[in-house]
Amino acid sequence: QCKGHCHGPHRPHMHSNHSAHGDKDLPGPYPLVEDPSTCDIVKATQYGMLERCRELVEAGYDVRQPDKENVTLLHWAAINNRQELVKYYISKGAIVDQLGGDLNSTPLHWAIRQGHLPMVILLLKCGADPSLIDGEGFSSIHLAVLFQHMPIVAYLISKGQNIDTTDLSGQTPLMLTAQKAMGPEPTRFLLKFNPSLSAVDNVQKNTALHWAIASGNISAVDLLLEAGASLDVKNVKGETPLDLAYQSQNHFMVYMMKEEERMRSRKNNRLLKIVEKYELFLMLASSLTFMWAIGYVMNLSSDSWLLKGGLLLCLLFGMALFVRHLVGLKNLRYLPTAFLLSSVFWMSMTWFFWFLADILYTQGLYFNLTLYTDVMGLLYYFYKTWSTDPGYIKTSEEERKENIVALAETGCLDFRTFCTSCLVRKPLRSVHCLACQACVARYDQHSLWTGQCIGVGNHCYYLLFLTFLTMTSVWLLYGTLLYWYNHCPTSYHQDGAWTYFTQVTYCSPWVSYISALACFHTVWASLWLAVQLYQIAFLGLTSHERMNLLIQRKSSKHPVSLRRTPYNLGCFQNLADFFQCRCFGMFKPNIIDWTKQYNVFHLAKEKNVHSV
Ligand SMILES: [Zn+2]
Ligand SMILES: [Zn+2]
Repeated sequence: QCKGHCHGPHRPHMHSNHSAHGDKDLPGPYPLVEDPSTCDIVKATQYGMLERCRELVEAGYDVRQPDKENVTLLHWAAINNRQELVKYYISKGAIVDQLGGDLNSTPLHWAIRQGHLPMVILLLKCGADPSLIDGEGFSSIHLAVLFQHMPIVAYLISKGQNIDTTDLSGQTPLMLTAQKAMGPEPTRFLLKFNPSLSAVDNVQKNTALHWAIASGNISAVDLLLEAGASLDVKNVKGETPLDLAYQSQNHFMVYMMKEEERMRSRKNNRLLKIVEKYELFLMLASSLTFMWAIGYVMNLSSDSWLLKGGLLLCLLFGMALFVRHLVGLKNLRYLPTAFLLSSVFWMSMTWFFWFLADILYTQGLYFNLTLYTDVMGLLYYFYKTWSTDPGYIKTSEEERKENIVALAETGCLDFRTFCTSCLVRKPLRSVHCLACQACVARYDQHSLWTGQCIGVGNHCYYLLFLTFLTMTSVWLLYGTLLYWYNHCPTSYHQDGAWTYFTQVTYCSPWVSYISALACFHTVWASLWLAVQLYQIAFLGLTSHERMNLLIQRKSSKHPVSLRRTPYNLGCFQNLADFFQCRCFGMFKPNIIDWTKQYNVFHLAKEKNVHSV
């Protein structure tokens, strides 16, 4: 129904001006087609020649007078983002909401089609009405959505435009994005404002989900299903969304819909509801059992490795089946956490039942206590890392709208510094985490092992967690060596590496199994701890920033230094800042609230720094 969205009677003369600041930043001199002193007022307006326009208006030209294509000067000024001219014409009596052009649009509509946010702000300030509809039946917010100018959508909503405004055929902005927008971002963006999912248009009585399916917009279908769009609504022909999916013969879409239907019917099952409630505990318990079962099978007195191998395969198969059917997608990310905790549990059990007697006998009680202190420390700091807020940037809906208006009006609604998912202005060094669906202050990483983000709030705890994990695993490896020395009738020096290895595995498969786990945890935890400490002390960077700089270094022609950043204040100062420690007055840590820090300038001691 939209005929290519032409910009009025003919394509206006545009300069390639993508600056958000309008007239002031235009690159000059303009490639003028005519002599400025003789050109007509329309051309002078299009090119932003304020002096020439003023001259003509003062000589008697009526600013309200439309040209032969029924377009006013204000339209031309608006579509070309000539802010000074718009102010001037309005001061001379131009009508802000004048309809004009083929599509009977207001100057505001024209500015929105071109995505000129500063012009939209100016026109609204001058009293333009964003709810007026143009000749195609679209109001301002529909145009902004159709042309995918999301900053303008955000601004209009924050200025009070209803997210569920309907156009002439009853379509809401959400239906338009579901039908016409490319990629997931526009739909995801609109869903942030809680639009109605059940609204239907006037003609076909389609919901947004119907529209998304009919136009094959898979990312929109996915987002709408996730947001809980109904699967049962029928349109004017009595078709549900699933019927439309069948008609479209898009097999993937049919699969998505059926999966969703299955998931939703599962939600009503009482047993599964209980399972869901205690899913994390269940996961931990089953992970403990599986891990024990693996060790048990390996420890069987049978000599047949074929039998053991077969049993192990069965176990793995059972585990995969369990994960696939009982663990929800939401909790899948805690699988490594369950693995880590169960290995710590079985490591301490092994210490208690296998090594304790020996070590008590040879090394004394104190040595034993060290391991248990380590395990306690490990669990404590794991809990702290897991439960402490890493520094999520929080705002209420009202605050978000105020933010958008304030940012847009000061010309700062730049989507590199503004998170379109959270609708907040991103503080310096914060990153939006897709897994947590939130912006995290001084983001380091989304930790695989804790299933949580590591940010300014829990980074210290995370380092301590890594330290204790390394120490626990190292003690356990030491215990293993002692055990082998005392209980396995073989010697590394006499028998050589291979015989020694097979002998100790044969001697106690369980202990070998646990020591392999300990080895794995020692390696990753100690390496990762070393990398983290290096980054913090010598670079003053987070893992995320370092990765970004390394990528930048590869693609950039100029040398990119990891050390010359505004955050690197020297090794000792970096450490003092990170741990906020004074060390008896030796250091003076900078106190910076990274959830509210937007400006780099007063941090930077050097001018020549790379942006991170
Ligand atoms: Zn965010
Ligand atoms: Zn995260």
